[in-house]
Amino acid sequence: QNHFLSLSLQAKMSRPVQARRLEGVDKNVWVEFVKLAATYSTVNLGQGFPDFSPPDFLKEAFVRALSRENHMLHQYTRAFGHPPLVKVLAQFFGKLLGRDLDPMTNVMVTVGAYQALFCCFQAFVDEGDEVIIIEPFFDCYEPMVKMAGGMPVFVPLRPKAPKDGKLMSSADWQLDAVELASKFSERTKAIVLNSPNNPLGKVFSREELELIADLCVKHDVLCISDEVYEWLVYDRKKHIRIASLQGMWDRTVIIGSAGKTFSATGWKVGWTVGPNQLLQHLRTLHQNSVYHCATVAQEAVAQGFQRELELYGKPESYFIQLPNMLQQKRDWLVQSLDAVGMKPIVPEGTYFLVADISKFKSDVPDVPDSDEPYDSRFAKWMVKNKGLAAIPLSAFYCAAHKNNYDHFIRFCFAKEEATLKAANDILQKWKQEKTDL
Ligand code: PMP
Repeated sequence: QNHFLSLSLQAKMSRPVQARRLEGVDKNVWVEFVKLAATYSTVNLGQGFPDFSPPDFLKEAFVRALSRENHMLHQYTRAFGHPPLVKVLAQFFGKLLGRDLDPMTNVMVTVGAYQALFCCFQAFVDEGDEVIIIEPFFDCYEPMVKMAGGMPVFVPLRPKAPKDGKLMSSADWQLDAVELASKFSERTKAIVLNSPNNPLGKVFSREELELIADLCVKHDVLCISDEVYEWLVYDRKKHIRIASLQGMWDRTVIIGSAGKTFSATGWKVGWTVGPNQLLQHLRTLHQNSVYHCATVAQEAVAQGFQRELELYGKPESYFIQLPNMLQQKRDWLVQSLDAVGMKPIVPEGTYFLVADISKFKSDVPDVPDSDEPYDSRFAKWMVKNKGLAAIPLSAFYCAAHKNNYDHFIRFCFAKEEATLKAANDILQKWKQEKTDL
C-alpha cells in the first residue's frame, strides 16, 4: 500500500505547467460577467447576442441540411470553407467590393469571427511586432496579440462634448490624427480596425478611414478589419469597407460573422476575405489548428447568403430588415435611459449602447484606491441588487487607460421588446427610489 501511496504522490505534477504565452492573459471579463448574469440577472443586456430567433429561412435551411438525403453534410467538408459557402461569399463580397473574388483563394471560412482574428494574429505577428488597437476595443484583441508575441499599442477615441442639450453620439468619439500618426513606426506590423465598433457603436467615416489607410500605406502596415457588425448601421449611415480605399485591398483582411449577420451567434460561422498573398497564411494556421467549422452550419449559411444575394437592396432582405428592427430597439433604449438620467451615447451602428452612470454614483459609493475600476464595481452591484446585467466600458480598455473611462456601462439592445420593457421597469423603479429618498 505504501508503495502505491508514494507512487501516487510522485504522480502529482509539481513543475509549472503554464506556457509563458499565457502569462498575463488568464483573466477575462466575460467569464466573470457571464457567470454573474447567469446567477443574478432577471434582465440580461450584458453579453452581445440576440434573445430573438434567427430568421425562418435560415433555420429552415439548417433543418433541410440536416435532413436531406445528402448525408455527406454530416461529414468533413473542405478545410478552408464548404464550397457552396465560399462560392456565395465570393459572389456577395465581390459585388460589395467591386472586384472579382476567387472563392478558393480570396475567402476562408472560420469558426466564428473569433477564430478569424486568432488566425490573423498568429499568422502575421512575430515576436516584438507592434499592433495598433483603437480603444475602446473588443477585448480579445489584446490577449490575442500578446499570445502571438506581439506588443499591443493603444490609441483611444477621444470624446468631444456634444452641442448644447444634445445627446452624445458615437460619432463624437474621434481619433486624434496626430496622436494616431505618432503610434506608427517601423515596428508596426498591423492595425486592428473595428467598424462598426463594439462597444461604442461608432461607424467610422470615410475621412477617418482615409486617415488610417494613408498611414497603413505610408508605413507598409496590415489592416485587420473586423466588420462583424457591417449590416447593423442606422440613420441611413453607410458602412464603408476600408479594403475598398486606395492601396488597401492588398494589405487588408476583412473579417465577418454569420452569428451577427443572421442573428445566430451560437452557430459560430465566420469568414475572412482578402488577397491570396495574405489568406494563404491564414490557411496554414487554420489547417494546423482547427481544420474546419461544422458542415451543416456552413451549408445553411450558404443558403442564407444565396437568398440575400437574390434580394440584395430589396425591402425583404434580412440585411435591411434587421437594422430597421434594431434601430427601433436602439431608440427605445436611448429614450428609456435618457428618461432616468443614465445618459446614453447614441450608437450609429452595432447592437450595443454605452451609457454614462455618473448620476447613479451615489447609489454605489466609490472605494478609494481600489484596483477595480468604478464601472466594474457598479455593473456588479447593479446585477446583484437590481437584476440588470451590463458590461463595464473599462473592460474595453488596456490596463493603463481603464481608469480614464470608468463611468460608463455597455448594454446590448438586440433583445425582445419584453426584455427591453423589463429593463425599463427596473430603471424607472430605481429612479423612483432615488427621488423618494
Ligand atoms: N468581433 C467583434 C467586434 C465582436 O463583437 C464579436 C462578438 N462579440 C466577434 C468579433 C466574434 O464573433 P463570432 O461570434 O462570430 O466569433
